[in-house]
Amino acid sequence: MKDVPEESKDYHLKVALRIRPISDADVEEGATIVAHKIDHQMVVLMDPCEDPDDVLRAKRSREKTYMFDVAFDHTATQEDVYVATTKNLIDAVISGYNATVFAYGPTGAGKTYTMLGLDSEPGIYIRTLNDLFEAIEDRTEDLDCSVYMSYIEIYNEMIRDLLNPCSGYLELREDAKGEIRIAGITEFSTCNAKEIMSLLTKGNKQRTQESTAANKTSSRSHAILQVTVKQKSRVKDINEEVRVGKLFMVDLAGTERASQTQNRGKRMKEGAHINRSLLALANCINALSEKCGKGAQFVNYRDSKLTRLLKDALGGNSRTVMITHISPASTNFEESRNTLVYADKAKNIRTKVKRNLLNVSYHLAQYTSIIADLRSEIKWL
Ligand code: ADP
Ligand code: MG
Repeated sequence: MKDVPEESKDYHLKVALRIRPISDADVEEGATIVAHKIDHQMVVLMDPCEDPDDVLRAKRSREKTYMFDVAFDHTATQEDVYVATTKNLIDAVISGYNATVFAYGPTGAGKTYTMLGLDSEPGIYIRTLNDLFEAIEDRTEDLDCSVYMSYIEIYNEMIRDLLNPCSGYLELREDAKGEIRIAGITEFSTCNAKEIMSLLTKGNKQRTQESTAANKTSSRSHAILQVTVKQKSRVKDINEEVRVGKLFMVDLAGTERASQTQNRGKRMKEGAHINRSLLALANCINALSEKCGKGAQFVNYRDSKLTRLLKDALGGNSRTVMITHISPASTNFEESRNTLVYADKAKNIRTKVKRNLLNVSYHLAQYTSIIADLRSEIKWL
C-alpha cells in the first residue's frame, strides 16, 4: 500500500496492572490478601504457602515485587483506570494511528468489569466511545469523518459477529497488503454516539446470553470491539489524503488454563479443553519479549485467529496497552503469579507506530486491479 511517507516511531507496549477488590466468595473460602499495590507503579505478591520443610525461609523470600507502567488496586475507580490507560489513545486514533487496549488475566480477575463495566460503573468501551465522539465534534480540521464499528467474539477458534449473530461463523482473509480482514463482518457506520452505544448494548446481549447459558463459554471467549475512524477532505481531489485510525478494545478469555500448561513447560497443543488462541498469544508474548532482548526470534502469529487479528497490536503498527488483572486472594496465588510473569515479559515488547495516511489515487489503483482480476476470472468460466 502506498502510504504517504512518514517516519515510524518506536513505542513500548504499556502494561498496567489492576488488582480487583477481595470478594465475599474469597473471604468465605478463607482467603487472605496476598497482592498489594505499593505505589503507583509497584505491586507485591506474597506466596501464602509456608513450607513445613523449610521453617527458616524468611518472609522476604516469599515476597516478589513487580513494576508496571501503572498499578491500581481496589481503591481505583473505572474513571482512574480509563484515564491512565486509554483516554490518551483517542487523539492518536483521530490523527490516524492504530491503538489497542486489551484486558488480560485469569477468569474472575476483573477483565470484563474493566472493559464493559456495569451500568452504574461503565468501563473502557463506553467511556472511550463517548470521548471519541466528543473529540470528533471538537476537531478544528474541516474533514469528512466516518466512524465504523464492529464487534466479534472468538470462541473455540470460531469467529462470531456479535452485531449480526445470524451470519454464521466468519473467516479470516489476508488482503493484497498482507493485512488480515474478517470476511463478511458487519461494520456499522455512524457518527452518532447514541447509535453506537445501542449497537454495543445489542452486541453485549449476545455475549451475555451465551455466558449465562454456559458460564465456561464467556471465560473461554475473546470479545473484540473495533472502532475505525476514517477522515478525508470535503473537497474531491485525486491526491486527497485519507486518514484511517483503528482502535481495538479486547476482553480476552481467562488465562488460567494457558498458564497451567506453561507451568508444565509444554508448548501449545490443540485440544478441546485448551484455548488455542490464548496459548498462541502467550507464545507470541514470549517470542516478542525475547526478540527485543537477544535478537531474532520467530513470532508465530499464524497459530490462532486471535494472534492473526492482533498481529499489528503486538508487533506492528499500534500503540498498545495491556491491562493485566489479578485477584488479591491467597486462593488465586498460582494464577496471579503466572499472570504477573507474563505481564512482566510483555513490558519488553516494542511496536513501531506510523500514521495511516492513504491517498485516493492508491484506492483507485487497487479497485482497478480488483476489476481486472474479476474480468479475467469471468473469462475462464
Ligand atoms: P473476568 O472477566 O476477568 O472473568 P469479571 O470482570 O467478570 O472477571 O469479574 C468477576 C467479578 O468481580 C464480577 O462480579 C465483577 O463485578 C467483580 N469485579 C471485578 N473487578 C472489580 C472491581 N475493580 N471492582 C468491583 N468489582 C469488581
Ligand atoms: Mg470476563
